[in-house]
Amino acid sequence: MTRLLLIGMPGAGKGTQAERLSQAFGIPAISTGDIFRHNVKNETELGKQAKAFMDRGEYVPDSLTNALVRDRLSHQDAAAGFLLDGYPRTGEQVEELDDILLQQGNKLDAVVQLTADTDEVVRRLLGRAIEQGRADDTEEVIRRRLEVYEEQTAPLTSVYAQRGLVIMVDGLGAVEEVTERIMQALEARGLDRI
Ligand code: ADP
Repeated sequence: MTRLLLIGMPGAGKGTQAERLSQAFGIPAISTGDIFRHNVKNETELGKQAKAFMDRGEYVPDSLTNALVRDRLSHQDAAAGFLLDGYPRTGEQVEELDDILLQQGNKLDAVVQLTADTDEVVRRLLGRAIEQGRADDTEEVIRRRLEVYEEQTAPLTSVYAQRGLVIMVDGLGAVEEVTERIMQALEARGLDRI
């Protein structure tokens, strides 16, 4: 029964680590970015609404994002725990998640903040642009995403820090090393892998 959040700048390696933590804890990794991209690709109503925001590097409006997460967390596979990757990113999303958890009678175990420096993440994201051709990976859009992160999401870590939930982990280094750092920090808090 582990409930985790993964927070960090675009390009900090959240998606990669989320997959590994999901395996280790036997909980689903839920990435709002992946869900939005899937909807854009399949041209669903949600995808059509989200696309313009994503292409500009802006956040999808809270109303859409919150409804999506509320629905996803009501699925059976999330009942025994989850790892949220890329949510919450705004103050309103923090409140929505608090409300969802309150209704469920559940609480978060930890918020993993993956740190990285700006030059490194821009390098990684430009590399990914070449490999995967993601529409929001052009240099201009990357810079905008980093700005939006600093303005809207970085301040949220202090909200969770006040609750004593934040674990800061250096996201630079080999993928396995970073996973090991996260696992050790979680184990130190009494959260064990399966
Ligand atoms: P990154 O962390 O590299 O910015 P993500 O894959 O997490 O990428 O998200 C891609 C895009 O999806 C974001 O730039 C944003 O437009 C949208 N998105 C993802 N999660 C959220 C969220 N919680 N709130 C609003 N928009 C979101």
